[in-house]
Amino acid sequence: MELFLFEKENVGKQMHKFMTELFPICRSITGNGVRETLKKIQTYLPLKITEVPSGTKAFDWIIPKEWNIKSAYVIDPKGNKIIDFKNSNLHVVSYSIPIHKKISLSELKPHIHTLPDMPKSIPYLTSYYNEDWGFCMKHEDFIELEEGEYEIMIDSSLENGSLTYAEFFKKGELDDEFLISCYICHPSMCNDNLSGVVLATFLATYLKDVNTRYSYRILFIPETIGAITWLSKNEQELYKIKHGLVATCLGDSGSITYKKTREGDNEIDKIAKYVLENSKQDYSIIDFFPNGSDERQFCSPGFNLPCGSLVRSIPGSGKFPEYHTSEDNLDFVKAENLADTFSKYYEIIYISENNVKYFNLNPKCEPQLGKRGLYRNLGSQKHSEEKDLAIFWILNQSDGKNSLLDIAIKSKLDFHLIKEVADNLIKHNLLKHIK
Ligand code: ZN
Repeated sequence: MELFLFEKENVGKQMHKFMTELFPICRSITGNGVRETLKKIQTYLPLKITEVPSGTKAFDWIIPKEWNIKSAYVIDPKGNKIIDFKNSNLHVVSYSIPIHKKISLSELKPHIHTLPDMPKSIPYLTSYYNEDWGFCMKHEDFIELEEGEYEIMIDSSLENGSLTYAEFFKKGELDDEFLISCYICHPSMCNDNLSGVVLATFLATYLKDVNTRYSYRILFIPETIGAITWLSKNEQELYKIKHGLVATCLGDSGSITYKKTREGDNEIDKIAKYVLENSKQDYSIIDFFPNGSDERQFCSPGFNLPCGSLVRSIPGSGKFPEYHTSEDNLDFVKAENLADTFSKYYEIIYISENNVKYFNLNPKCEPQLGKRGLYRNLGSQKHSEEKDLAIFWILNQSDGKNSLLDIAIKSKLDFHLIKEVADNLIKHNLLKHIK
């Protein structure tokens, strides 16, 4: 099956441009920032949007109240606005309850969060399940604060509402699904959050216009609670998921990392390994571990879905100190890194689409290739030698047990060549597809 063609450099630039548009929106696990983000994605894709009311049970969790914020500030004793939500939505701890009062510096200090090791950066903090309020600021500004009375104001609301998530679905030839999940709950941060959103959006824009073997389901959900909610509402359909990837942290300059599924030996694991090994770039492949992003929920033992995660630098690995700070911004994420990650996702999808098994229809000894014009008559160009080799490998291994990727791995021949040669053997009635 052919897949879409894309111009790598161009798609990287488009993704970065879309990220720039999404960057200013103040997102959280619920609220209008999520809806506004989805509305922008809808300019590219048809989405099915679901609103789940606050108080709804989702396994061991309960959908929280909906949080929205209009503005927030802190005014120092001299009347200077030293923190303004307008300048950065990271200044307010996500899910802060509304407050407006005058307090002393010593009362304020426990509610201010900074990064002493990164004095020029604003941290990103949340307090979803513990009603509280707080501000985040640069440590270098924090240490300058003087004694006196401060006016603090957070114009937010925390009320019964709903949790919003969206799905893009494209029906393929099979009911079997390829799941790609990203999260839409972080405010102005690029690598951790928006890189996944723009990559998933652009993958879907291409996938929607081509015929595919798999059906594709792309989730735009708030992290953790959104994944738990989606799983709780779709439990009966999960058996269709044959491959899954959690898309996050895709635009930094680090090399690509593939985090395996919980079982570690699913088809997606084999495909991702093959793609990275053949990329001629640095990469790492790591075993599943039970923290991280939404693979935690997809790979919980009650579901154990074949979901891996293809990322660049993993948070907490020491390679991504910008994680959850104002440094994870539009300059930190580069269009060329997004483009490179996009091409890896494409390659994984391309191989999974074409990773089928065949039966050799002439299994007793080799078929006579010469009379079918399949064997080189003259010359010994390298390319045709490889093609001949591919013919022998495919015919020998197509016993219904080995997929084209198995054959590419065993033969050390390129998957694309194996697929091209297999297509030709089908035309000559030497292979039959096993459904
Ligand atoms: Zn995060």
